[in-house]
Parts: sequence; structure tokens; C-alpha cells
Amino acid sequence: MDYRALTDYLGKNEVHYERNAKTSSLVSFRIGGTADLIVYPDTEGELAQVLKISHENGYKYVVLGNGTNSFFCDGNYGGAVIVTSRLNRIYTEGDTLVAECGASLTECAKVAMENGLCGMEFLFGIPGSVGGAVCMNASAFGSSVSDILRESRVIDVENNSIYVLGAKEHDYYIKHSAFSGNKNLVALESRFHLCKGDKEAIRAKMSDFLKRRSMSQPLDFPSAGSVFKRPRGLYASKLIDEAGLKGLTLGGVSVSEKHAGFIINKKDGTAKDLLKLIEIIKIVIRHKSGTELEEEIIYME
Ligand SMILES: Cc1cc2nc3c(=O)[nH]c(=O)nc-3n(C[C@H](O)[C@H](O)[C@H](O)COP(=O)(O)OP(=O)(O)OC[C@H]3O[C@@H](n4cnc5c(N)ncnc54)[C@H](O)[C@@H]3O)c2cc1C
Repeated sequence: MDYRALTDYLGKNEVHYERNAKTSSLVSFRIGGTADLIVYPDTEGELAQVLKISHENGYKYVVLGNGTNSFFCDGNYGGAVIVTSRLNRIYTEGDTLVAECGASLTECAKVAMENGLCGMEFLFGIPGSVGGAVCMNASAFGSSVSDILRESRVIDVENNSIYVLGAKEHDYYIKHSAFSGNKNLVALESRFHLCKGDKEAIRAKMSDFLKRRSMSQPLDFPSAGSVFKRPRGLYASKLIDEAGLKGLTLGGVSVSEKHAGFIINKKDGTAKDLLKLIEIIKIVIRHKSGTELEEEIIYME
């Protein structure tokens, strides 16, 4: 594919990009081959322009936050990976925290704490970005992004328009949102409604959550967090554990011994290994408990 229209724009505007670059370093699973282009817009205007040019010219593209819920194919991703990490501004306005899509969740939680605002503690330690969390409705310790999200400013690439999406219009249900499966809707910035609280109490809650994460999650290996969505009224990790699948290994990837909901990349795992292991887990759980597991992690092929 000739990306001339896009590379001309990137060159003229000094937007950083790489050609035929590795995708594995963009994702926490450390799995993936290469991509035709990896683009790092510095501003919202650049992001909007990159999306517009890609759409108008029929280039395949995907928006990537911190890559902690995604993995790429082993071969070449024949399109542009648009990374939001440089759009990372965070600020507060009264009891509202505003963050650009590429801002880190952990940084948001810290800024909220420093400003004596509570409600974001559960995001501390989730390694993703605001855009990824708004898309996936990130949740932990009984709280979800949908509990605190007030609105997002979004770009609709198809219609080349920017508008505000209210909380309800995010259309959330378990790990699904208006963004799921719709690459043309991109979150630019989100506003979160928080409450005044005691800074030290917020700090203590955050450090408790972090401790609980390191006790229950295999943080010493690359992963993408929980592989499967939570089936209604059940826990995927419990079903996998009860089916005796902890430690099951295929090539370089294994079901974590520490948390059965996680698959870890033990050594040079590939997307092929991972897809096969996911399929085996789904078949075993279907036969043993009649539950249909559904992937939470996103495969970019
Ligand atoms: C060790 C570990 C622990 C984790 N713990 C948790 C946890 O407790 N709770 C939880 O919910 N998750 C958890 N996760 C998963 C992950 O961190 C979250 O889902 C996070 O919200 C994903 O953010 P990201 O920026 O990494 O998303 P990415 O992987 O970059 O992207 C995920 C999806 O969002 C889309 N996307 C990204 N940015 C935008 C945007 N601006 N607009 C529209 N779409 C966008 C992407 O196209 C993709 O479809 C964990 C992961 C790891 C590795």
C-alpha cells in the first residue's frame, strides 16, 4: 500500500512516524510482528488529521492507547497504527478531572489524589490509557469507568465531525461500549465526575489496591490482563481454575498459575500460540460448565 497522502502530511508537519516497525513493543503482551506505519500524533489536531487522511484514502488503521488490552498478528499489520501516548494532558476543574485520550490511568488517579478528589482510586495500577479505558469500560474492585464518566469529546471519522458524547451515549454494558468494533469513533478527551475527599485516605486506598494487584496478578510476566469478559453472574478465572487449566501451556504462552484469568507470555509467545490457547480454554469451559467465554482482549490483524 502506498501511504503517500499520509506520509506527505506527516513529513510536512513533522509528526513522528515509523515504517515497517515492530508492534510487539507497543503492547504489554509483547506479541506481534510489524506494521506498515506507526504514527505518534502530538496534538488532537494532528490525530484528527491522520484519521481523516487515512479514512479518505482507504488506509486501514487502528487507534492504540497503551496496548495493555491488545495484541497484534505475528506477520505484518497492513495498515497504520495510530498511537495516542503523546496526547496525555490531565487537569482538574473543580470536582471534574479532564484527561486526553493518551493519558495514563495511574497518572489520572495520582492527579485526582493530589487535588483531594476521590472516585478514581480503582484505576490506580491499571496500566492502560484513558481512551482504552473509556472504550473498554475498565473496572476493578467493584468500580467502573462508567460510574465516574461524565462525557467524552469524540471524533466521528466517517462524518469528519467532533462532538460531545454524554455518559449514557457511551452505551456501556459488560466490557462493551459505543466504541467497540467501531474504529471510526475515537475518544479525544474525557471528563470524570469525582468527589471531594481526604487526600491521605485516597492515598491509602490507592496503595491498598496496588498491593492487592501485586498479590493476585502475575505482574512479572507480559500479559494483557484478564483475557475473557466476565460471564453474567460468574468469574471466568474461577471457571478456568476449576477446569484445572492453570499452567496449561502452548508454545510460549501459559494460563497463569497465579490468576487463571490471565494468560502470560512466558517466552517468545506468538499470536498463533495465544489464539490456539484461547480456543482450547473456550472449548474446555464450554464442555465442562456450558459457559461460552468471550474474549475481552482485542486482536489486531
Ligand atoms: C497487568 C494488567 C492488569 C490489568 N488490570 C485491569 C483491571 O484491573 N481492570 C480492567 O478493566 N482492565 C485491566 N487490564 C486491561 C487494560 O489495562 C485495560 O482494559 C485498559 O483500559 C486498556 O487501555 P489501553 O490504553 O492499554 O487500551 P489498548 O489496548 O491500547 O486498546 C484497547 C481498545 O481500545 C481502543 N482504543 C484505545 N484508545 C482509544 C481511543 N482514544 N478512542 C477509541 N478507542 C480507543 C483500541 O482500538 C482497542 O480496541 C489490565 C492489563 C494488564 C496488562
